[in-house]
Amino acid sequence: MSKLEQLSDRFLRVGRHPFKICMKSNKNDEKQTNFDDPDVNDTQTCCCCRSDSPMYAKLWPLIFFFSALTDFPMPLPKGKKPGQHRDWGWVPVLIVTGILVFVYYGYLHSIVLVLLRQLDRQAQAIGYLVPFNVMFIFLLISYGRIVSQTPGHPNPITTKNRTNDSSINIDEIENLKSSQQKPESILGDPKWCEACQIWKPDRTHHCKVCDACVLRMDHHCPWVNGCVGVSNYRYYIQFLCYVSLLGSFTFSTSLAAFIEFHGLSTFDNVALAIVIISGIITFMIGTFTMSHIWLVLLNRTTIENSQFQSWNKAKKSGDAKNRLIEVFTETGKNVFNQGCWENWIEVMGSNKLLWFLPLSSKENTKKDGVHYGYDENVLQEYKNEDASRRRMPLKNDKKPN
Ligand SMILES: [Zn+2]
Ligand SMILES: [Zn+2]
Repeated sequence: MSKLEQLSDRFLRVGRHPFKICMKSNKNDEKQTNFDDPDVNDTQTCCCCRSDSPMYAKLWPLIFFFSALTDFPMPLPKGKKPGQHRDWGWVPVLIVTGILVFVYYGYLHSIVLVLLRQLDRQAQAIGYLVPFNVMFIFLLISYGRIVSQTPGHPNPITTKNRTNDSSINIDEIENLKSSQQKPESILGDPKWCEACQIWKPDRTHHCKVCDACVLRMDHHCPWVNGCVGVSNYRYYIQFLCYVSLLGSFTFSTSLAAFIEFHGLSTFDNVALAIVIISGIITFMIGTFTMSHIWLVLLNRTTIENSQFQSWNKAKKSGDAKNRLIEVFTETGKNVFNQGCWENWIEVMGSNKLLWFLPLSSKENTKKDGVHYGYDENVLQEYKNEDASRRRMPLKNDKKPN
């Protein structure tokens, strides 16, 4: 693979590996590289490396802004800890809020009021106003819930007793490991998080931006200033659906109105802006929504799907390892895939009304983030593979030095 291909490949993967890409290999600081999941992908290290440049530190707010908007994980300036990525984390949330306020104001003033005042079409105005407001309220509730609620962290994350990274020694780590009860795991031995100093249940990953382990971590989303995990994934799916529906409704009605009322409204520019913004949102978020619904039906998180895609791509090019990471068997079967219907219920709950309403559900709050449904046959295959690997370690399972 040429340098250019490597670069473009890395860039294309960034959005799907928000916490794994290493911008600058820092071989002298093993403690920092250990912050990453070493099991996730041994061809990548982490984004916990530092830039020592004072200029970089001064420009950090701007760099962070770029990083937050694009999900491109930039190295931290010297002296910053991983959690301090979030210093400016509210900026994208404010941008989203600003867009929502503008769309609401623009739609009401440039479309609905024109129908009412200039054309006296009350029935049509109400027909626009009611669905728009209902979808808008649902959207706000789901967004507020994602932003304000925890994605779900393993215990005892609240009593995280991280010692000084530079002074911790192997004995202390072993003491910590043995003092904590391992969570139940169907995939084998649970993994240890170096950063949080806790055992990680199945499907848990450490988020560098939040500097915390997240249960069934889907991805870190800068637009909600936090992670999407086991506790807020249902709201996330609902939020994407509301945005897509509201966007397509706003786009179609405002485009029709703009064409019809052109010249009538004193808010022509605003109406045009609403058409453009809602069109972009519908296209971008619509495709994103479809891909997330697809992932729910397959019972894969974004991280698991990225791993699968990387493995699949490598397999096609002939350099795949014999072992897929985490939840997949060597033939690419997902241990947690119980069939589309069961997969959907696991995320969205069995109460069909709550699929459409962003209300809290008892089913959701009962989720412990440790136990998940699984396919027994696939799990057996997974365990058999694990057992045969232990008997005969594969050469290409070794980590590169
Ligand atoms: Zn962690
Ligand atoms: Zn996060």
